[in-house]
Amino acid sequence: MENTDFTLISEKISQPLRIMITTHSNPDGDAIGSSLALAAYLKKKNHSVKVMVPDPYPDFLAWMDGHEEILIFSEKEGECKLAIDQAEMIIAADYNNLGRLNAAGELVRQSKAIKVLIDHHLNPSDEFDYQISISKISSTSEIIYNFIEKMGDLHLLDKGIAECIYAGIITDTGSLSYACNYIKTYLIMADLFRLGIDGEHLHRLIYDTYSESRLRLLGYSISDQLVVLQEYHTAFITLSKEDLARFNHQIGDTEGVVNYGLSIKGINLAALFMERDGIVKVSFRSKGSFAVNTLAAEYFNGGGHRNAAGANCKTTLEETVSKFRKILPLYQTMLKSVY
Ligand code: 5GP
Ligand code: MN
Repeated sequence: MENTDFTLISEKISQPLRIMITTHSNPDGDAIGSSLALAAYLKKKNHSVKVMVPDPYPDFLAWMDGHEEILIFSEKEGECKLAIDQAEMIIAADYNNLGRLNAAGELVRQSKAIKVLIDHHLNPSDEFDYQISISKISSTSEIIYNFIEKMGDLHLLDKGIAECIYAGIITDTGSLSYACNYIKTYLIMADLFRLGIDGEHLHRLIYDTYSESRLRLLGYSISDQLVVLQEYHTAFITLSKEDLARFNHQIGDTEGVVNYGLSIKGINLAALFMERDGIVKVSFRSKGSFAVNTLAAEYFNGGGHRNAAGANCKTTLEETVSKFRKILPLYQTMLKSVY
C-alpha cells in the first residue's frame, strides 16, 4: 500500500540512533544516491549512520560524498553482520522487499531494529514497521529531498547531498527522459543547482567514463546480438558469460544497454538477458502504457516499475529467452496499442 505520510518516521528519529541504511543488489545511481544523501542528512541530525549494499556498485558512481564508507556485504560479511546486529533502525532505501538484499536479507529480517522503508516501487512488502512508499515519484532520491523538506531541514542540504540527489534523479529518469512529467522534480532540480552543483560535470562523471571494452561491448550487443521482432514490437539482446568475458565485463558495463532497443521506431518492449554468476539477469524496458513490472512478476518472479523492471532467473540463458519468446504472442495486442 502507498503511504505518503512522513510524520511517524520523523517522530522515530527525533532521538539519536544507530541507523543502518540498506539498498538493493546491483545498486544503481538512485540506490547509491538516495542512500548517501539520507546518510549525510541523518548524520547532521546526530545519528550514527552506516550504509550497506549487498554487492559492489559500479565505478561510475564512486564519486559521491561518503561512498568510500559504504559497507559491501559480499566483501565484508563479518563487519556487515556486526553493524546489522548493532543497528537500532534499519532503513530500506530504493527497494521494496528484503529479498533484494540477497544473503543479507534474512539477517535484516531477523534483526530487532525498527525497520523503515523509503521507496518508490509498487507493492512494498509488509516486512517493515514504517513505510514511505510513493510510486509516482521519479526516484527514491527525490523522496529523500521531500523527506528533508517535510522535516523542515532544507537548510541542512549542502552541495554533497545535492549531488547525490541529482545522481539519483538523473539515473532513474534517463536524464529526465522518462518518469519526468512531474513538476516537483524540476523544482527540486532548481534547488539542487542553487546549492552549487555542476550538472554538466556530474553528467560526465556518470555517463562519460566508459572503458574502451565497455564501449565495444555495447557495439557488439547492438550489431551482433540484437534481435528485432517487429510483429511483437519487441527487441532483445542476449549476452552469454563468454560474451561478457571477451569484453572484460566489469560491474555496471551493461547499464543502459537494454534501452537501445526502444530507440527503434515501433518498438515498445526491450529486454536484455545476461548470464552472470550462475543466474540469468533480465532487464525489461517499455514505452508508455505497456507495464513490464507485471510481465516480470508473472513470468520471471521479478518486478520493478511500469517502464523499467527486472528479474533474476535460475533457468539457463536459452531457457529464459525461449520462455520470453513464447509469452510474446500473449502480449501482442497490448504491444501493438501502446499509448
Ligand atoms: P535493471 O534492469 O536496471 O537491473 O532494473 C530495473 C528495475 O527493475 C529496478 O529498478 C528494480 O525496480 C527492478 N528489478 C530489477 N531486478 C529485479 C529483481 O530481481 N526483482 C525485482 N522484484 N525487481 C527487480
Ligand atoms: Mn529508484
